[in-house]
Amino acid sequence: METFLDFNLNSKLEDGIAELGFTQPTPIQAQAFPIIRSGKNVVGISQTGSGKTLAFMLPLLNDLTYNKQATPRILVLVPTRELVLQIVEQIELFTKYMSVKTLAIYGGTNINTQKKAVMEGADILVATPGRLYDLVIDGTLKLRTVKKVVIDEVDVMLDLGFRFQLNNIFELLPDNRQNIMFSATMTEEIDSLIKDFFVEPEQISIALSGTPVDNIEQSVYEVHNFYTKVNLLIHLLKNKEEFKKVLVFVSGKRNADRIFEKLDEHFNAELGVIHSNKTQNFRFKAIQKYEAGDTRILIATDVMARGLDLDQISHVINFNTPAFAENYMHRIGRTGRADHKGKSILLFKESERGYKEAIEELMGMKIPEVEFPEEVEISQQKTPDERPDSYVYKRDDRNTKKTEEGGASFHEKKLKNQKTNQGGKYKREIKKKYKKPKTRSGKKGSKK
Ligand code: AMP
Repeated sequence: METFLDFNLNSKLEDGIAELGFTQPTPIQAQAFPIIRSGKNVVGISQTGSGKTLAFMLPLLNDLTYNKQATPRILVLVPTRELVLQIVEQIELFTKYMSVKTLAIYGGTNINTQKKAVMEGADILVATPGRLYDLVIDGTLKLRTVKKVVIDEVDVMLDLGFRFQLNNIFELLPDNRQNIMFSATMTEEIDSLIKDFFVEPEQISIALSGTPVDNIEQSVYEVHNFYTKVNLLIHLLKNKEEFKKVLVFVSGKRNADRIFEKLDEHFNAELGVIHSNKTQNFRFKAIQKYEAGDTRILIATDVMARGLDLDQISHVINFNTPAFAENYMHRIGRTGRADHKGKSILLFKESERGYKEAIEELMGMKIPEVEFPEEVEISQQKTPDERPDSYVYKRDDRNTKKTEEGGASFHEKKLKNQKTNQGGKYKREIKKKYKKPKTRSGKKGSKK
């Protein structure tokens, strides 16, 4: 097994890593190290929790030479303020013994304070695109010395509508630079971003670290409809002893709000919600409270939950059944981390049966079914999409397809396209990836 000593890191960086107690690189770190050091453009498909921050920072920090002026040479772009802070915190630990200055840049705070900090100089910038652009435009910040650009959580970035800002920033960066991009999933929009800005990128891709399927006790309930799912959810969550720290995954903003409203009547101060229609400040506070244990239950959409580095989640509840089986793996991987046992509960209604079966096929196992508790009331209330004849349904469904299933409609299209030209290669690869999580040999190779 490879250790960090095999990387021949410069001694100060090695000391920083050792002090954190890290001895073995995670699979994504092992894969990324030589490729990023080679200077090629890189596209990495990987989750939070896989050690991806260190995967991109380690090779960059290793080759970062001391510079008295401290002009920015590494730029890390991330979608949210909470991620900026998380990454800066990590980099500061890695570089504890190096003479490296890292600066956090994000909106929603006093720009003059940040201007002062920028003028004092920094080697590494970790920034949200909007505020970074403002500082460049007013002349405070110069990007011409930036040689390494990392765009992290690209899928979240695009979901939040940062494409335009990214384009603007790219225009201002020197041509002679290395681009590194990380995303949890591929979407059409990401593909087009890569085509526009990445020359011949090398792709690295790896399953979640850990062995989600082994560490997680999974169960499934068949439930009548949306509001009966709400009733069941309330019933389960009332058991505070068992449901200590719960992440409830929901398809889309509107459903997240619907569920929040219903749960709020019962759980109030124990409850938080995050989705991309909430302000950054709101999300930041919701996550902080959940992390600190002030709230017990967090409702989240797929995209928003991806950037979180949360520990000790006792239960992941899949309120909806993801239309794309890989998303289920991403979701349940949020529990059962680092040797903790986790539990996952899937709720499905008849119209989601096909999705459930696709998940089971992907894992090569049946999820044990639990009988619907008699004492839970079956609701007659219907959501717009459960009323198939209504006009509202069509509108709601269209929006759902576009934004709510974490790119499900795209994946469906992708699978369909591949059926005609690639004979289900994608499906086979995904299966390979998850069926034997222990071997986890990530696919490597150039993107076409
Ligand atoms: P990330 O995927 O970058 O959010 O990292 C997830 C967590 O794993 C963070 O808390 C890291 O500090 C930790 N981590 C990263 N690399 C390693 C490693 N090689 N060994 C142990 N823990 C690690």
